[in-house]
Order: sequence, then C-alpha cells, then structure tokens
Amino acid sequence: MRHRLATLLFLPQALSAQEALVMRAETIAPGFVVVSGFTNGNILARLGSEGTVLVDAQSAKRVAQADSVLKALSAPPVRLVLLTHYHSDHVGGNPHWKSRGARIVGHANLAAQMRKDTLIAGWENWHRTPEPVEALPDETFADSLTLRAGGEEIRLVHIPAAHTDGDAIVWFPAANIIHTGDLLEREAPPFIDWWTGGRLEGMLTGVDWVLDHSDSATRIVPGHGTVARRSDVVAYRRMLLDAARETATGTRAPGRFTRLLSVGLEQFEPAGFRLRLAPGTPEARLPWLLGCWQFTRGDFTVTERWRVRAGGSLEGQGRSVRGDRLVDSEETAITARDGRLVFTARPAGQAQASFTEAESGADAITFTNPAHDFPTRVSYGSAGPARVHASVAGPGQGGDRVIEFPYDAARCPAE
Ligand SMILES: [Zn+2]
Repeated sequence: MRHRLATLLFLPQALSAQEALVMRAETIAPGFVVVSGFTNGNILARLGSEGTVLVDAQSAKRVAQADSVLKALSAPPVRLVLLTHYHSDHVGGNPHWKSRGARIVGHANLAAQMRKDTLIAGWENWHRTPEPVEALPDETFADSLTLRAGGEEIRLVHIPAAHTDGDAIVWFPAANIIHTGDLLEREAPPFIDWWTGGRLEGMLTGVDWVLDHSDSATRIVPGHGTVARRSDVVAYRRMLLDAARETATGTRAPGRFTRLLSVGLEQFEPAGFRLRLAPGTPEARLPWLLGCWQFTRGDFTVTERWRVRAGGSLEGQGRSVRGDRLVDSEETAITARDGRLVFTARPAGQAQASFTEAESGADAITFTNPAHDFPTRVSYGSAGPARVHASVAGPGQGGDRVIEFPYDAARCPAE
C-alpha cells in the first residue's frame, strides 16, 4: 500500500518527487517487461503471441499511463491479470484491463478485502474504501494455482498472513522470474497491513520462499522499487529482522516504519514470534545460509538445504549423490547456546556430533570440536552473491585434511 504523501516522505534522496511519478519500462528477460513508477506498484508484463499477461494492475489513476507504455512496446492485448494483493495501487487498474477483455485472478481473501469499507483509527485514520464491483477478480484460489500462457507455466503461491492476508507470489519458473508483490519493497521501508491479517512472521516466510526458489540468475520483481537479485533479498531479510528487534528493544531511531513495527509487535504479532527477536539467533546471524546450495564435480553432487525453525534456529539437510545413487545424507542444525552458536550434525547411520562456535565474522563462522575424530572444524561463509563456501577439516593421514564445498545457490527441489 502507498499513501501518496507517505510515499513521498519515504523517497530516497536521490529520487525526486517528480522523478517518482515517471513510468518506465525495463526488459528483464526476452518477452518480460517491468512497467514501473515508484509510487505505484510494479507491473510485470509477459508478452506473448497468445496475449499479454500482467502481474498487478496499477492504480486507477495511472493505469492508462501503464497501458500507453505497453502499447508503445507493441504488446499484444492484455488477456490475463494476476494480482499479488488487494491494495489499490496494485488492483485499481482492474476495471481498465477488464474492459479490454482481460480475466482477473487473485487470492480469495483479496476479493473479500476489496469489498470492505474500513477506517483504521490506529493508523493515520487510514480509510480503506471498497473497490468498484467491476474491479473484483473473475477467479480466485486458496493455496496455489498453476496457469499456462503460451505453453509456459505460471504459478501463484499464497503466503498466509504476510503483507496482507491475501498475498500471492507469482512465479515464472522457466523464465526464472518472481514477482513478490509488497512482500518485498525496495528504496523505501516496506509496509505490513496488520489490520487485514498481515504479520512480520509471514513476511519472513514469504522472503524465505523467494530464497528457496532463486539462484544467481533469478530476477525478483518487488512490489515497489528496482528489480532485485537474490543477494538483495538476503539483505532485506536481515533489515526486517534487525528493525523489528531494535523496535522491540527500544533501540531503533523513531520514524514511520518504527512506529508501524511497534503497533504490530504490540497488538498483532503472535507472542511466539518474539523469541525470534532475541539477539544473536542463528536466523539473525546467518540469513545468507538460508535456502538451497549445490556443488557439483563430474557426476558427484552435494546439496544442502537450510530453513528457519522455532525460535530462529536453523535446520539443515545435506545429501551427496553420485549419478543417481544417494551416497550420503545428514541432518544438521544450528542453535544458539549461551551466546554462541552450535552446529550439530547427524549423518545417516552415525552418532550425532556437536561443534561450538570458535570464530566468526559478519558473514563467516567456524565451529570446532577437538574431541571429534573427523572433522574437528566446520566452516560456512558467504562468498559473494548467491554463493556459500563451506569446509570441513581435521586430522588426516599425513597432516591436516580439508574438504571444500564451493556452493552455488540452487532452486530447492519441489517437496
Ligand atoms: Zn501493498
């Protein structure tokens, strides 16, 4: 959501108010164009001979401008509009596209929210007015929906209770493009619509979905702001959690986003989520480890998958495959204990071993267990965008033995 005035207050210094109203088109992949103007939602357009598919519809006020941009690009007629959430800067253009023959698709809760008339006294007397009937979606879905355009798969994935209660991420797996809606906003603080069931916990779940489904080549279209890469999403995740922790502990500078977070943490966020705001949790310290990692040498592939669990601990799964054969697997975890992180590994068919944090920097950590046979050291480090370098080391025959795993981010396999 974007109150116009609020948005202008949020604008980065480099972007003047005038500049923010300019509508631009950026081709991010063959047949994929982002039509954006900062103060309104980013449209992602997929241009194909069977028609144009849009993700988000723009505001009522600026939809004609977006349409002119598409016409200037000789885009075929818009046949399908997929919505990320109910806020008017993303759905206000629906009647325009519908009058030109487009079918509109969104989450069931989005349709319910679009009909409401509510005044939110707790937030700047924000008045949410109902959208006109002709703006409502023609088709809704619950958990997920798979569509096709020109033979290409498009997936809509509902993230419960995140920016709103009716968010959808729109994913084009073949093109490796994700539109996040306002789960991700750039160049200005994001918004969490607590009053329609939005929650920070769900925002983080949505961000983690993006990390799970992206690699170094993925283009990530935010609800507002410039198109992102995976590493930008890691930085954003860190910012969200840090901002919430600083708000909860009263150490964050005052401002509109701080006020928004404090309203939500006091009135809306489930109490259990507070545990994740403790300082020094694995989630807070190692956000760059989340997602799936892969390293291949010839027919040998090693993968790791890391996810957040209760209290901000991390749970991992490792697999080594030669050809089609699983040769090794292990379950791992990183937890916090007495101010230090502990790495635990349980390889299939072997005893569990724990390693305690010995050294760490901002983006690297080494765990040790001198009493273990091999390894005695386990290290992880962020090695640039979409890369993690892991190693295990210890005594071997004739000296120290080190095994390196130069991992690249990989899209997690479907479960
Ligand atoms: Zn929004």
